[in-house]
Amino acid sequence: VYNFAAGPATLPESVLLKAQSELYNYRGSGMSIMEMSHRGKEFDAVIKKAESDLRTLLSISDDFAVLFFQGGATTQFAAVPLNLCKLEDHTDYIVTGSWSDKAFKEAQKFCKPSLIWSGKAEKYTKIPSFDEIQQNPDAKYLHICGNETIHGVEFKDYPETKNQTSILVADMSSNFCSKPVDVSKFGVIYAGAQKNVGPSGVTIVIVRRDLMGDAQPITPVMLDYKTQSDHASLYNTPPCYGIYFCGLVFEDLLDQGGLEAVERKNAKKAGILYDAIDGSGGFYVCPVEKSVRSLMNVPFTLQKSELEKKFIEEAAKEGMVQLKGHRSVGGVRASIYNAMPLAGVEKLVAFLKDFQARHP
Ligand code: PLP
Repeated sequence: VYNFAAGPATLPESVLLKAQSELYNYRGSGMSIMEMSHRGKEFDAVIKKAESDLRTLLSISDDFAVLFFQGGATTQFAAVPLNLCKLEDHTDYIVTGSWSDKAFKEAQKFCKPSLIWSGKAEKYTKIPSFDEIQQNPDAKYLHICGNETIHGVEFKDYPETKNQTSILVADMSSNFCSKPVDVSKFGVIYAGAQKNVGPSGVTIVIVRRDLMGDAQPITPVMLDYKTQSDHASLYNTPPCYGIYFCGLVFEDLLDQGGLEAVERKNAKKAGILYDAIDGSGGFYVCPVEKSVRSLMNVPFTLQKSELEKKFIEEAAKEGMVQLKGHRSVGGVRASIYNAMPLAGVEKLVAFLKDFQARHP
């Protein structure tokens, strides 16, 4: 099937097959990665290679630590304020959809966040222009969600923080490694793996080293960036198999020519799908402002909403599964992450046209 799920999501077939071939007996060790000590030489090589390949992919300098966490991106909603500011500190949040809204609400427990821009009134179909946002002069950081998985809005470039002590923090869960990013513009980037780079259970945190070491005293040890960095993500037992799998995906992305090549493929896939929606004469509608449409998650509705259920059921019968929109917004959502082949999107586009022709 072609799997359009938002996450956990489709993974590259070649990587799954490689993992399968190594599942039972990892490279002659007689053990599975799942059965090995996380402090043994095999896993040590796995985690180091995963980190080094990710550094190559995103050109991450040594000024940044690359950490592998558990707990999902949701846990980072708390870890960010716990590590970067004090309970009484001001921070800025831009809310462009459900995920940045959750991050903003969680931060209220650990600092004094201000909602400096919200797209709620326009049903989260926009990204603010940078002169539209008023940053607080004393904010410790500015938090954004790089790509809103449910609403399908994506930052195409990133705001500058206004004051020197403030830093930019981004949840990139659903567009991580889908395109090149200038990591040096950020203080922290975090991403759950389960969309573009692996199975759920691994969360990647890229953090500028000088921002670590001043966490709030109440910070659980497992959420302290400095502790994880000092122990090379091995303070406790890490999600070994997930990290191994992410490493295989990073290798595959490098083999594809790196993130510029990956972005070109993603832009092509998204382009044909949005063109089909926009060219349907209103039969299908994508509500998101064109300039900020996500390359990863394409939400749309059918003008005749009573046909949506049928659309999703018939698509599934033709091998295009998990197209149902998020329960909070309804409609249809096609998630077309790195591992979705062009052929899958072409098949969906052909189905869109055929379904429309059958329902005049
Ligand atoms: N942020 C974004 C953009 C997401 O898409 C998701 C999950 O889909 C999350 C955060 C939450 O991630 P997790 O389930 O790993 O906590």
